[in-house]
Amino acid sequence: MEIIVQKFGGTSVADAEKIRQAARRVIKIKDKGFGVVVVASARGKQTDQLVADALELNPNPPKREMDQLLSTGEVQTVSLFAMALDAMGYDAISYTGSQIRMLTDSVFTKARIISIDGERIHQQLEQGKVVIVAGFQGIDEHGNVTTLGRGGSDTTGVALAAALGAKLCEIYTDVDGIYTADPRIYKDAVMMKQISYDEMLEMASLGAGVMHPRAIEFGKKYDVTIHVRNSSKEIEGTIITHEVPQMEGVVVSGATIQRDMAKIGLVGVDNVPGNAAKVFAHLARAKVVVHDIVQTELSPEKANLSFMINVSDLDATKEALDKIKGEVNCQNIFIREDIAEVSVVGVGMRSHYGVAEKMFEALAEAKVNIDSITTSEIRISCAVDDDQAEKALVAICGAFELHKPADVRKV
Ligand code: ASP
Ligand code: MG
Repeated sequence: MEIIVQKFGGTSVADAEKIRQAARRVIKIKDKGFGVVVVASARGKQTDQLVADALELNPNPPKREMDQLLSTGEVQTVSLFAMALDAMGYDAISYTGSQIRMLTDSVFTKARIISIDGERIHQQLEQGKVVIVAGFQGIDEHGNVTTLGRGGSDTTGVALAAALGAKLCEIYTDVDGIYTADPRIYKDAVMMKQISYDEMLEMASLGAGVMHPRAIEFGKKYDVTIHVRNSSKEIEGTIITHEVPQMEGVVVSGATIQRDMAKIGLVGVDNVPGNAAKVFAHLARAKVVVHDIVQTELSPEKANLSFMINVSDLDATKEALDKIKGEVNCQNIFIREDIAEVSVVGVGMRSHYGVAEKMFEALAEAKVNIDSITTSEIRISCAVDDDQAEKALVAICGAFELHKPADVRKV
């Protein structure tokens, strides 16, 4: 039996009518003869509410208890979903993460999946049931409930598709698909028909918040096609898949903006083997996610080292820096908090020249000063003042014609 995984986000199951609507989507696929596995998020703002409930009692709640609490939002949805299907005359059974032995590591609030036992799900599908799995949660080897990080139900969906051998994971959400840029900032942005995993990974990690980045990693690794769609509209949405040759013809697929960044600079670090390792070992121990590391040699004796972090990691970073400072003998540390990053992403950059020039020109024309520049093979990012970031994004989108569908752009 061919299996399709359908993941429904919080807004797509927010109330009884929405759950019924989602259930009708399930039935449509089921009636075509597919085995359907549903992954559901907590309803509406339920997870935020649970976070607020926790903070009311304890400003610094133990992470294990936080996961235990937050996982309940999804559990409510899946049982309600199964009841809705039952009322429509379809056999359905719901499971929590632990019931399908979704084994994760023990990093509470951002656990990573280790393995999934698909056996029970296969058995239920064989019996003609729709299987509904609570997203976002797993269990560690000690039997503790874990969660995968906010937005983690996407990852449950794609990881389950991979584990069950499903070729397709549909992600139902409240937007039509993936846009060339955030339409709230760039009003003329258009929806993409398709995007490669690599581009989507760059966009997702750069703050195009439509999907959880780990979900895309799973899709890429296990060859699961991801189809992002609007749960309340009958339109196609965006397919995330392997790169196909015509994708190379598009120079820039999308542009992103990432707010709430801070830039850390270590000035005049001793230029000796092992210093960078020390710095990032401390940051890793503090569980700080670091982006855009740049080191430049100033002289045979000294080097400058800079990197970006999310502002939410600033306190942990400062603590780590206190330890680092003496160890690497750095002369000065500067921290800039009001930073944003604007980026362009496209696999076509590999084979086209002039992309950087066009981006910098657009920023110059918009009178946006570039603080620092970093690149990957398929991305160029500029750090800019946060209060200029929206203007910067709009300028870049204009320069690369991101208001037009990819096949009619002239740049
Ligand atoms: N309910 C969780 C959250 O709000 C997980 C998810 O929606 O994917 O972050
Ligand atoms: Mg979500």
